[in-house]
Amino acid sequence: MIEKLLEGLRQKEVQLVAVSKTRSNEQIMELYNAGQRVFGENRVQELVRKNEKLPKDIEWHLIGHLQTNKVKQIAGFVSMIHSVDSKRILQEINKQAAKHKRVIKVLLQIHIAQEEAKFGFDANEINEILEAIHQLEFPNIKVCGLMGMATYTDDESQVRKEFKSLSNLFDSIKTHAALDDDFQVRSMGMSGDYALAIEEGSNMVRIGSLLFA
Ligand SMILES: *Cc1c(COP(=O)(O)O)cnc(C)c1O
Repeated sequence: MIEKLLEGLRQKEVQLVAVSKTRSNEQIMELYNAGQRVFGENRVQELVRKNEKLPKDIEWHLIGHLQTNKVKQIAGFVSMIHSVDSKRILQEINKQAAKHKRVIKVLLQIHIAQEEAKFGFDANEINEILEAIHQLEFPNIKVCGLMGMATYTDDESQVRKEFKSLSNLFDSIKTHAALDDDFQVRSMGMSGDYALAIEEGSNMVRIGSLLFA
């Protein structure tokens, strides 16, 4: 099952973030020993704890909502932050990355779901952020793309529509905003909807339950 999933992602050149939240270090090491190096966590505390214990060549992605006062705990080692949803958090990540003389990769989280509860920029808020990025206000941040979560529903056409809206936004930013070649990532799709996400243009999926089942 896992082999087939991995092979399918490889063929489509879709990057896998193995979502390891709530999983033990032993479970993570099983995947690590099978070759997986990119892991995603959604809580800062748990991420810090795991980073201390697990191999240093793991690339840790933070995929959950991030509070400004917690950035400093992960700035020294985190590889990518998927959940950037305000200018304030960008400023803080930039500041803390500079202290460590690092450049941290980030994705801008876009609110594509119907549900109110999910975080992220609205498409019309994104211009202001792109302008600030363009003015080089954040030298210690590399903006690598967009992240989105679809509505939790059985309505396939709804989910598809939401993923497509992120892909369209990505294309329009790529064409109109003068971002460099690092702007590549469409992070969308989880265990339940990754196939749809890939069909609608995802090139990075965040999968947990399916992998660790
Ligand atoms: C938990 C989580 C995932 C993975 O969800 P699964 O359904 O277990 O694959 C993906 N993205 C985010 C932001 C998550 O919090």
